[in-house]
Amino acid sequence: MALHWQILAGMLAGLVAGLVGGEGLADRVGWIGALFVRLLKMVIVPLVFTSIISGVASIGGGRRLGGLFAKTIGYYVLSSALAVLIGLAMVNLLRPGVGASIVGAEGGALPEIETPSSVSELFLKMVPTNVVDAAATPDMLAIIVFSILFGVAIASLPDRPRTVLSEFFDAAFQAMMALTGFVIRVAPIGVFALIARVAGTSGLEAFSALLVYMAAIAGGLALHLFVALPLLLILLGRIRPSVHFRNMAEPLAMAFSTASSAATLPITLRAVETKVGVSNRISSFVLPMGATVNMDGTALYECAGVLFIAQMLGVDLSFSQQLVVVVTALLASIGAAAVPSAGLVVIFLVLESVNLRGPQVDVIVGAMLAIDRPLDMLRTSVNVFSDSCGAAIIARSEGESGVDSDDGPAAADAPA
Ligand code: ASP
Repeated sequence: MALHWQILAGMLAGLVAGLVGGEGLADRVGWIGALFVRLLKMVIVPLVFTSIISGVASIGGGRRLGGLFAKTIGYYVLSSALAVLIGLAMVNLLRPGVGASIVGAEGGALPEIETPSSVSELFLKMVPTNVVDAAATPDMLAIIVFSILFGVAIASLPDRPRTVLSEFFDAAFQAMMALTGFVIRVAPIGVFALIARVAGTSGLEAFSALLVYMAAIAGGLALHLFVALPLLLILLGRIRPSVHFRNMAEPLAMAFSTASSAATLPITLRAVETKVGVSNRISSFVLPMGATVNMDGTALYECAGVLFIAQMLGVDLSFSQQLVVVVTALLASIGAAAVPSAGLVVIFLVLESVNLRGPQVDVIVGAMLAIDRPLDMLRTSVNVFSDSCGAAIIARSEGESGVDSDDGPAAADAPA
């Protein structure tokens, strides 16, 4: 059986086992899921370092890098803006907050996740004062910035040191990809445990309290995933969405199971290079940065979530206030860490921008937390898929014609 089918089977088995076995089973398999996520996290920092350094060293600095950077940022802004607008439309159409009740959905305390408090802080923290500390935290943006600069520095060296270093980092990158290949082999068991834990511990009454809200967010995310992003693939990349979906089956399953773009990154990098067929030069540039700053699903969620809270409180947001929400939702999605529940933590930034605060707001956000996991799984899948679309579209625009071709490696169902 091809690996992505094994992973899917693992997810389904986990769902059934979790629903049947309940909390008892969830407790017993929890550590297996945690172990799997640790394996993924173990790979991230060295993989990102080596991948970016070897990719950027092969591009060199100057015009080519600048052009790639501009395209990448252009894609991030376009796709995230589309997502926010879909979120805005869904909540204005379905009005899930009007008359909603949160009885039965009281949540616990929000997890502590570090978030930059302003745009200037975000920029400031991009430059590490200590690379080892950035790698240890890990602080992804800082690692990315250092790796890009280091790659540019390598490209500027004379022949011999440049070749030595490029070959070294390229070889190290290949080793990290091979290591990722080992980790993904145990993915069916890992996702089984992760899904079983979620299914076993989620109380159903909480979900029924906020059903319309969940439907509005899930519907918006589905629209973005199945309509907006495929349109971008067709219009900007001349890529058949069905082929891209097939190539991205493993990262999608992984994003859904782990609810973390960062933990999924090794699998995303691997699939985009070996299945979608994007060169390391482009994927190493677009994907790590994308996992950290390009979060379409989160952007949609920020916007829809804040409007939902406003509706519940009976606050009518004017057109210009909604515009403020749109812009801050986009910024909040950039600042959100690529870990579970980060989207809900940064929602306070967006709420603040339209002066929504106080105990009532906290209670509603608590209820949203109680049902956040399945929504987080969905928005993380959208986040990861959007990054991969960006990599494929940019690769096509750079003349990589084999990207998402019908007879690519995934078409032959090659086991990973
Ligand atoms: N969990 C999401 C991610 O890792 C972020 C979020 O909570 O929206 O992409």
